[in-house]
Parts: sequence; C-alpha cells; structure tokens
Amino acid sequence: MICPVCHTGLEWTTRMEGGQHRRFNALACPVCLQQKSRAFYLQLQKEYLPPVLAGETDMTLTYPAGARRYHIRLMGEPTHAFCGEAVSRNWFKRYLRLDDQLRAQLCPRCLEVLDQLRQEMS
Ligand SMILES: [Zn+2]
Ligand SMILES: [Zn+2]
Repeated sequence: MICPVCHTGLEWTTRMEGGQHRRFNALACPVCLQQKSRAFYLQLQKEYLPPVLAGETDMTLTYPAGARRYHIRLMGEPTHAFCGEAVSRNWFKRYLRLDDQLRAQLCPRCLEVLDQLRQEMS
C-alpha cells in the first residue's frame, strides 16, 4: 500500500489470528503523522516562547559530543530539535538565556525556525 499524500510505501503488519497469519493495513502513514506532529509542536512553542524571546528565562539547548553549535530542544517534545533533527537521549544539555552571543552559537536551521515563529507571533 502507498500513502496517497506523500507516496511512502506502507508495510503490512502480520498478526496471528485464529491460528493463521493475517495481514493488516497500516493504521497511519508514519511519515505524514510525524510531519503533522511536528507542525503542531512548532505551533505549541508560541505559547511558551515569549519569556524565552524576552531573555527572561533559559532555553533548553542540546548537542552531541564534539558539536560546535547548540540545537534548541522543542518544549514538550524532547526527542526533536526546532530544526527537526532527532535528539538522542545521550546528547548533552545546556540551559542559557537568548542573547546575541548565544544566537551566534545556535544551529542555523534552529535559529531560522525560531525567528520564523517569532515573526508569526508578532
Ligand atoms: Zn504519508
Ligand atoms: Zn538544529
């Protein structure tokens, strides 16, 4: 089966039922579902961003060993960064106020998404 929206090939799930293997259709396309979740989480950030953008509270940053720049972690969805990158549980965390110095140390794509949200909020 092929997802009609993004054309990802969807696997069938096979389960034993009544002593025989039966094939079940995928309940949802995982690619589309993840995109929708991400879009929703990005909108949700707006509720919590004002004090972060005002520099009144720390933002949660995360980065793998050896990285030069920080990713911004999504609030409420700690497994992904603003840029969409998957965040490993083994990554390091830092909590810092947003200022010009920090902006220069952020993942460019994360910063782009942050500024886009800021624009949408104003
Ligand atoms: Zn899809
Ligand atoms: Zn990033």
